[in-house]
Amino acid sequence: MIAKYGRQLDDVKNNREYEALTKEIELQRLDIQLSEKRIREVEVSVVAKDETLQAAKEKMGEKNKNLDTKKVELDKIIAKTEKDGNKLQKQSESQRQVIEERLLKAYDRVRTSYRNGLAVVTVERDACGGCFNKIPPQLQLEISLQKKIIACEHCGRILVDASVVDALAQA
Ligand SMILES: [Zn+2]
Repeated sequence: MIAKYGRQLDDVKNNREYEALTKEIELQRLDIQLSEKRIREVEVSVVAKDETLQAAKEKMGEKNKNLDTKKVELDKIIAKTEKDGNKLQKQSESQRQVIEERLLKAYDRVRTSYRNGLAVVTVERDACGGCFNKIPPQLQLEISLQKKIIACEHCGRILVDASVVDALAQA
């Protein structure tokens, strides 16, 4: 536009045309200055955004590395849990062969009727470990003697002495 107006300046006919053209040229120059200022501002903001992006990428790289490690750990845990689960399932199946039908029925009923699926619990702080109702001292004594199968009178879960659980955990 400046070049075009410059060429027009060469053949102006009067002062009014000359002034109009020089004013247009001046306006175009101001426009250029304003645009250049905007370009500089944008360039500064590009640099800042690029720094932010680099920092975010670095962080993401670290997080991804961490995620990969966790995934490997999780896979191991899943594999081990599955193995343990299968082993326990087999143990459960073989033990069921030697347990009275009526006890199995009671056990299965309790297993499926409670959300946590626990059918066998210990006495914790004088209370049933499943429903948390108090267990009378006499009953606690009987449980510790391990002479017969005792169920919680509130929830029906089978109550066992803590030593039974300890022995199983070590087995
Ligand atoms: Zn209970």
